[in-house]
Amino acid sequence: MTMPPFTRREFLKTTTAAGAVAALAPFAPRALAGADAGAALPAGAPSWIEKTSRWAQLTLVEDDPGKYDLGFWLDYFQRTRSDAACLSGGGCVAYYPTQIPFHHRSAWLGDRDVLGDLVSGSRKLGMTVLVRTDPHATYDDVQAAHPDWIAVDAQGNPRRHWASPEMWVTCGLGPYNFEFMTAVHEEIMSRYRVDGIFINRWDGSGPCYCVHCRENFKAASGFDLPRPDNTSPQDPARRAYILWRQQRLFDLWGVWDAAVRKINPDSRVVPNTGGGALSSLDMKVVGERTAMLAADRQARRGLMPPWACGKDAKEFRAALGPKPVAGLFSVGLEEPERWKDSVQTGAEIRIWVLDGIANGMRPWFSKFSGVLHDPRWLPVVEDIYRWHESAGPYMRHETPLARVGLVYSQQTAWFYGGDQAGAKVEDYTLGWYQALIEARIPFEMVHDRLLDPAHINQFATLILPNIAALSDVQCDALRAFVAHGGSVIATYETSLYDEWGVRRKDFGLADLFGVSWSGRGEGPMQNSYLRLEHDTAAGNPLFKGLEDAPRIINGVWRLEVEPRAQFAPPALTLIPSYPDLPMEKVYPRVAQTNIAGVYIRETANSAAGRVAYFPWDIDRTFWEVLALDHFRLLRNTVQWAINESPMVEVTGPGVLDVTAWRNRDSIVIHLVNLTNPMTMKGPFREFVPIGEQSVRVRMPDSSTAKNVHLLVGKQSPLVQNRGADLTVTVPSILDHEVVAIDI
Ligand SMILES: [Zn+2]
Repeated sequence: MTMPPFTRREFLKTTTAAGAVAALAPFAPRALAGADAGAALPAGAPSWIEKTSRWAQLTLVEDDPGKYDLGFWLDYFQRTRSDAACLSGGGCVAYYPTQIPFHHRSAWLGDRDVLGDLVSGSRKLGMTVLVRTDPHATYDDVQAAHPDWIAVDAQGNPRRHWASPEMWVTCGLGPYNFEFMTAVHEEIMSRYRVDGIFINRWDGSGPCYCVHCRENFKAASGFDLPRPDNTSPQDPARRAYILWRQQRLFDLWGVWDAAVRKINPDSRVVPNTGGGALSSLDMKVVGERTAMLAADRQARRGLMPPWACGKDAKEFRAALGPKPVAGLFSVGLEEPERWKDSVQTGAEIRIWVLDGIANGMRPWFSKFSGVLHDPRWLPVVEDIYRWHESAGPYMRHETPLARVGLVYSQQTAWFYGGDQAGAKVEDYTLGWYQALIEARIPFEMVHDRLLDPAHINQFATLILPNIAALSDVQCDALRAFVAHGGSVIATYETSLYDEWGVRRKDFGLADLFGVSWSGRGEGPMQNSYLRLEHDTAAGNPLFKGLEDAPRIINGVWRLEVEPRAQFAPPALTLIPSYPDLPMEKVYPRVAQTNIAGVYIRETANSAAGRVAYFPWDIDRTFWEVLALDHFRLLRNTVQWAINESPMVEVTGPGVLDVTAWRNRDSIVIHLVNLTNPMTMKGPFREFVPIGEQSVRVRMPDSSTAKNVHLLVGKQSPLVQNRGADLTVTVPSILDHEVVAIDI
């Protein structure tokens, strides 16, 4: 019998241990980050990990054998200076003469060993090699011989594949993966002794009601599998399923990893997994287990912002620390219609990959089909990769210098719910993310189950964007952070629920916020505002850029709270909703209230940090409306909370993603130009250069600059020294510039 990954007791035990550390270990959030630059990979990491900088993935299609040009691809690997390859091996289609029953050889394979040719060709180029498998679909002969390997829907029917209806969907949690795919991975590792196996679509294709899933879940939890319409995370069976599925997948990962390491101890299984708050596998556990990961976000779609690639990098790093994260990108459109053989514009490919690199990713291109239907992407990727090689050790991205941490919470998404009162759980985070980009404040993401000093003491400020579900121990860790000089900004229902999504009577952080919940809330609010109290709060640091604003729009949802600490007269006060129609009736009914729109405080202990709490959804509303007044309020609050001269300050026109890094011998500042020339919607057609930027860097640890380079423009920049500050003038940026300072 297998147990869920963390029963409630184990979960509490784990978080208690972290909390105990938090209470005892010395915090140093005010100290400059970077003292541990060059943080080494953990002991026991496979030897090939350090050597991989640029990845090339060729995913063959079944009719490639005999058609595709091996020499062309090996030449392209070389021209792109790729030092690691991911090559199609087996699972759905075997590209080598497999001996495993039911392992389907490509119908075009003949007596070839396509995988063997690719592996040996890549090795001659000195590349690290992973073999890709995909277990999610199979064939009629398998279904006939092993009907229990096939996924079953809620009505009890075996599932045909949604896109290739002649195939069957396999069960991800049963013997197909645990036994058959283990044999496939062992055979590949025995034949080719590659550095690892990369497994795509390994975690099942939605809920499965097969005999194994039903019996295993019942044995582990005592429940029947929850039906598809039972989505409430407060239902005990649903909650148990969320945990049990993870445990099965972590067990499966362990089985595969042990099997290949028995054959080649320096090899690893790298499942295609991971992500942010909406990811279904616990990133804390993933980060502990894995040697590296590829963040599989192939391109953006619809109105996804171009910084979303960098966000992935930050989310993965929060859990993986110094372990490498590759940014797996495609060259085609990634819209729901899945034009898999399409090619994006060069500008669109570039902005996506460059934002990933600027945020610490190692680029990984992924191309389907060895026969190219449209080659226009080839010079684009080659150009990015050759530049990346030319930037050499500056691309090591060892330690981020960011002083702000934006917390994300999988347990909030799982148990508080992905959809609360019509708002998506991520929208609060996305609002903050956009605001921090616009404010040009370098920042990192922080996993809410990693709030121990080792993970957060490099930050001066943590932001909690409606992180609703927090355990008592997590709340203690945040209290300790503030007590030792760190600042906290929180919004809306942060800490109003425990780690299982069960609502508390009051905020878990009520003492930190200085307010208690009255038990009431309001929303959705129409036509409500906030009044800026210039008379009583003149010169308030939150008013920067709002000096001429008598009022600003309110958010949409708010909580009623009551102060339990001493506060200065409120800077922002509520103007309650009033009718928005008929127009004759649109006038405020209440002239003034004393209901505060933000609670900011410096706690009694002078060594402690600052706390700002917004009892409303300012971040979510900013993401919805992008009101400039809300941006100013968010930016001003962060600057007030940091309470120190910024590490990096970039002034000039445009929208930039600014990231800052410390390497052993350099400080590296990336400036990615996100100023999109398209008036509406997402895609980049061309880059429009932005004008002069002044980059001021506070040199850490009183290090001095030996030399300053612009790694894209290549010219020698104007550099001025003033005390510990270094100011570099960047004349112009087309898509990307890197200020590299040798120390
Ligand atoms: Zn199943």
